[in-house]
Amino acid sequence: MAGSAAVELRRRYEEIRGGLGQYVHVLAVAAGLKPCIDDWVGANRLDDYLALLADLGLTWVLDCWFDGIEDPGQVVGSDHLTTTVAGGVAPEMPAPPHAEAHVFVARSRDQAAVAQASGRYPVVANGRVLPKPWIDHIRFGQALGYPVCCVKSFARHSRWHADNPLWHAFLGSASPSILANSLPKHQGRSWMMHLPCSWSCEATMSQSRRLREHVREVDIDLADAVDQACTGTFLVLNELEAYRLAGARPAGERTAYVRAELLPSTRPTHPLRRLMAQGDHVEVDLACVRVYQGTEFLGAHEARCDTLGPEMAHLVRFSGDSDG
Ligand SMILES: [Zn+2]
Repeated sequence: MAGSAAVELRRRYEEIRGGLGQYVHVLAVAAGLKPCIDDWVGANRLDDYLALLADLGLTWVLDCWFDGIEDPGQVVGSDHLTTTVAGGVAPEMPAPPHAEAHVFVARSRDQAAVAQASGRYPVVANGRVLPKPWIDHIRFGQALGYPVCCVKSFARHSRWHADNPLWHAFLGSASPSILANSLPKHQGRSWMMHLPCSWSCEATMSQSRRLREHVREVDIDLADAVDQACTGTFLVLNELEAYRLAGARPAGERTAYVRAELLPSTRPTHPLRRLMAQGDHVEVDLACVRVYQGTEFLGAHEARCDTLGPEMAHLVRFSGDSDG
């Protein structure tokens, strides 16, 4: 693909999706670097989206329509739900107003169908949760081409109400790399879409390195944007709340920062946001985040374990790739 063509396709994708979405990973599938991804697009733009896929030589399977839903907190077994919650409508039904299409994207319909077979969410029916069979986490990860080590780690730790997969990724990290940083993925600026087994997972870094080389060839601005978004110091509580600390530097027991950029997540529960916006220094231990402006103490957030995603407050510094 010529560079100018890739940039034009990116602009079309951004216009259709209202942002970068998973464009980096659509490119990965088109280049044969990944077997499949699943993506979401407004039902009213589905035809434009599918035309774009066709121009990239890709095919697709429409899985279902995602619709709005009431808070599912009262259903029996709600603590087995993931961070993504939506109403589901069968694809042969008319799309509800404001629905999104859930689409599997691949180079062959067989690859898309294999991913669809295990790529489902826990289902709520008649006020009760029907969990996804655990083996399907493994099958889905395989169908999306995720590293085996990361698939096993996800299957072990993705218990959203009782565990914190990002903390496990941190514990296993020798030297956190931008090639294994999934934190900015909801900004469309990560070289990966999976939660890695560690921030220095070799298998993930190898996949990301190939994708990064490809994107640098066809769309250097996009590659630079992803690199920049993945680099630097991040304050992490759980998958729903993490910040990139722009201009971060050590300051004794604390870390000074110029700006705390809240990373998008699937739910807007951000108890630290206002404090982080007011401050410029932070002191972090697992159980507490203390925020200062200069030497003045502004306030503290005590980590909670009684919400979706137990909070483990910690700082992670991601560095560039020595081979890249
Ligand atoms: Zn791994």
